[in-house]
Amino acid sequence: MESLNRKNWETHKVIYEPCILIPVDILAIWQYVASRIHTEFCIYHKAKWTEEGLQLENTYYIPKQECTTASVNILEPVPLEYNVVVHSHPGFHSHSFSHADRTATGNREAHILLNCEGEPQKAVLRLKLPNNMYIVIEAKIKLIPSSHVHVDISPIREKQFTYHHYPQYYQYRFYKNHKDDDDIIIV
Ligand SMILES: [Zn+2]
Repeated sequence: MESLNRKNWETHKVIYEPCILIPVDILAIWQYVASRIHTEFCIYHKAKWTEEGLQLENTYYIPKQECTTASVNILEPVPLEYNVVVHSHPGFHSHSFSHADRTATGNREAHILLNCEGEPQKAVLRLKLPNNMYIVIEAKIKLIPSSHVHVDISPIREKQFTYHHYPQYYQYRFYKNHKDDDDIIIV
């Protein structure tokens, strides 16, 4: 009976730590806009769920908008497939959502707040519950590598370090050699 329950459990994919994954290409877009726009601004993105969290795609939509240093007024409907809304705070209040922001997530799946340099500061996920209810929870922000960058990494050989007197499960791939303590040999 126990093994049957365990099997059922293992068929479910559970995310224990809510997370929004942001490719660095997207970060570059935000930094570009923030370097040229000195009021608030708003950008929409598409994102898909992975086992690690909600991952933004390399697409964006900037709707027509009127912005001040404390407000954004979106002037056109934004297609619902852009399920992530991002807005910036240019000034001293750049590190947290305002009270108005908390209710402005609208019908999008996530809301990310940027500072005046276009760097993500806070993020929330809006998840559907039964009976037409939603829960808004704070999510961890994680930057992920660009899918457009290709580097020849063939000169780098990942060598496994082994601790002979430790059992196999301690022999981590990246386990540091404490004896030589992070030496680098330059030739
Ligand atoms: Zn705001």
